[in-house]
Parts: sequence; structure tokens; C-alpha cells
Amino acid sequence: MEQRRFKSRYGRFALLRAALVVFLAITMLLGLVLFAVDRNARASNEHQARTDLASAARVAAADVSTIRANLRAQAAEAASSAAVQRAVLSGNAKQIIAVARDHHAQIVIGSRRLGVRLPGIQMHGSASIADRGRTLATVVVGVQLDRSFLDALAYSAPVPPGAALLLVRDGHVLAGGPVGAATSMQNGRLQILGLKFAAERHPLGVARASVVAVEPVAAVDAAIAPFRRRLFLAAALTLALAAALAARLARPAARMLADLRHLRRQAETDGLTAIANRRKFDERLDEEIEHARRLDTNVSLVLADIDNFKSINDRYGHQTGDAVIKAVAEAFAASVRDIDLVARFGGEEFAAVLPGTNLLGARRLSERVRKTVEALSVELPDGQRVTVTASFGVAAFPTYGAPGALIAAADFALYEAKAQGKNCVVTASAKDGARVAAGAFAS
Ligand code: GH3
Ligand code: MG
Ligand code: MG
Repeated sequence: MEQRRFKSRYGRFALLRAALVVFLAITMLLGLVLFAVDRNARASNEHQARTDLASAARVAAADVSTIRANLRAQAAEAASSAAVQRAVLSGNAKQIIAVARDHHAQIVIGSRRLGVRLPGIQMHGSASIADRGRTLATVVVGVQLDRSFLDALAYSAPVPPGAALLLVRDGHVLAGGPVGAATSMQNGRLQILGLKFAAERHPLGVARASVVAVEPVAAVDAAIAPFRRRLFLAAALTLALAAALAARLARPAARMLADLRHLRRQAETDGLTAIANRRKFDERLDEEIEHARRLDTNVSLVLADIDNFKSINDRYGHQTGDAVIKAVAEAFAASVRDIDLVARFGGEEFAAVLPGTNLLGARRLSERVRKTVEALSVELPDGQRVTVTASFGVAAFPTYGAPGALIAAADFALYEAKAQGKNCVVTASAKDGARVAAGAFAS
């Protein structure tokens, strides 16, 4: 019952519309929150991944320093071994090769390299064998910067699951990935063969190489997948709640909107005639003049005043007077286009704002309304009929360039119409402006 009353008062779709508005407002708010939370989570996840990768690269690089020190120690130990020194002093190549191999070392004498071969890109440790200040030979121990070297590094470095270590030199992969492939680093992202990795690099201080800890961007993103799933589940639940809330709030919201609309209409409407009131007229005239100024077009203003109205009041009483004012207002409002505005200007005076209409058009319209009013016949409760006439004054923008001047000119023309015997239309020409300004109308 109440529902039916409500619907008839506020329109059939008002409830649905209000529910939709509430729901959309909540959805938008939720969307914003979700976006912010998700962005934050992604940023902190990425930050965490970077931190982990950076510490893996740092630890691996530190391990390299240790390995290098070990290589030097190993070379020094070989150089100081009696067997090696004896072999070098003997100059016997076979013997030198044998002792070198025993120490996994290469012994360099002049331009000759004896012992193990050191292929590829190596990290070295060396020590010399000298006799009275003269270098007889250099013992070199090396380790190749290859995959097994990297594996050894990865073994002790805290490489996160899903991540790996790479050796990179001069923008190319040395080991740990597609060897020789070009790499490019941008905003902490490493690109190899079109694939993107979150990456942190650390120089080794050896052979111009760097160790880079990498993790596929997809793997980094995947780490927050469970969190995002929970987030979206929570959002879906909240949306369901929002839908319920919207259904609940729809009625008060629709009522409030309808009341607001009603109040606004009331503030702009004349109580007796239900056409626009003076306040609405003033507002609209200002707007239309501004608009016409911008578009360089016309606006016309018509002022109309019922003739000899005092005598109608005197003969038939105020109530009949009111009925006549209403009838004239209805007839006037029915004679204009939708974009025109007819308002009650004062007691038995009316005003019409006609956007885009020049003086001639406004005059024609006024003539038409004048005839309609003349033909009106208002029936009284006792069966009597009352007829009326009205006089019209017309002025146009831009001949009169401001609301005050336009009203004064139309008023002056209306005064002229009364002076010419009433029930007629008079238009204000440009020269009338001077007379209005000179106060001719006021006298
Ligand atoms: P004129 O042809 O020169 O306009 O003569 P008039 O008698 O119409 O003169 P005037 O415009 O000065 O008088 C308007 C009268 O309208 C004065 C006032 O008593 C009456 N009036 C104003 N408002 C209302 C109203 O709301 N209802 C009624 N019944 N009369 C009103
Ligand atoms: Mg009057
Ligand atoms: Mg009058």
C-alpha cells in the first residue's frame, strides 16, 4: 500500500534509479579503495623482491672476493712448494708440467705456459718464484667464470625461490643464462631476449663482470596472487552488501531527491498561476542575455499587462480577478515554444523571455498572444463570462544590452501601448533607449 503510494508520488522508476545511484556510488568508492590497496600491495611486493635480489647479489659478490683470496693463497702455496721450485730451477718442461698439474696450476716462464690450461674467462690468483730479486716463474691458479662457478655462488647466497644468478659482462650474459645474449637494464628491470626480469646487480671487481640476481616479473607478480584473490573476494562480498544497502537506502534517497526537486520547483514557481515566478524570470533573463552575447544572437523580452484590471476586481471581486490572471497565464504559456519562458512579473503583469528571437519575431508572437487573450472568455460560477484584453511592450537584445535596460525598454513600450489605447503591441526601438534614460517614462 505504502509502496504504491510512494511509487505514484515519486514516479515508477524513482526507486530503481535511487537504488542504482546508491549502488554505483558505493561501487565507485570500493573500486577506488581496491585500486589503491592493490597498487600498494604490488609496490611493496616488488620492493620486497628487489630487496631479496639485492641481498643475493651482494652476498654472491662478497663470496667472489673470498674465492679470489683463496686463489691467491693457493698460488702462493704452490710457489713456495719445494717440488715446484726444484722443477722450475731444473728447467725440465716435463717435470714442471707434472708439478703444475699436481697443484692445479699453470706455471709461466717467460712466454711459455706449462701445466693446466686456463680456458675462457677466468678469475686468477698468482704468485712468483724469484731468485735474488729476479722472477724465474709465475704460478697462476684460475677458476673459470662459468655455470659451475655460478652454481657454487648460488649455493651459499640467499637466492629467493624462483630467482637465479647470472654473470654479465659488457651487457652480455657470461653464464647462468643464454650465453652471449644481449642484456639491457631499465628501472631495475633486466631484459634478455625479450623477457623481463626483476633484477639487482653487483660488480665483482673481476674481469669487468657483475653478478645479477634475477627473477621473472611474472613470478614476482605471482607472489601476491593469493593476497589479490582474497582482496577481490572481500570486494565481491562488500559489493553484495552494497547491493543490499542500496535496496535499503533507495527509498529514503528517492524521497530526498524528489523533495529537493519539489522544493526547487516551488522556489521558482508562482503560487497562483503555476508559471515561473519573478525570481526565475530574473535568473533566466540574465542567463539568456549572456548566452546571446556569447553566440552573437538575439533575445527578446515581452512585458504584458492586463487592461483595466482594477475594474474587473471591482466588478466581480478578487477571486474572479485571480481566475482571470490564471487564465491569461495559461493562454500565454501555451502560446510559446518550450525554450521560451513565461513568468508572472507582478500582479497582473507577465513577462516572456524568448531566446534566439529578434524584435520582429517577438512582435509577431505578442500579437498572437494578444488575440488569444482577447478571445478568452472566463466563466464564473454563476455562468457569467468575463472577457479581457492585455497590452504588450517588446524589446530585444542586443539593441538593449543588459537585463535592466531591456526591462526598462519593454516597460516603456508597454506604457506606450497603454497610451495608444491598450489591447495593442508596441516595440521599443533604439531611440526609445534615450527617452528611457532621460526618465520620460517615469514622469
Ligand atoms: P491598466 O490598463 O492601465 O493596466 O489599468 P489597471 O486597472 O490594470 O491598472 P493597474 O495595472 O495599475 O492595476 C493592477 C491591479 O491589479 C492592482 C491590483 O489591485 C490588482 N492586482 C494585483 N495583483 C493581483 C492579484 O494577484 N489578484 C487580483 N485579483 N488582483 C490583483
Ligand atoms: Mg499593472
Ligand atoms: Mg493593468
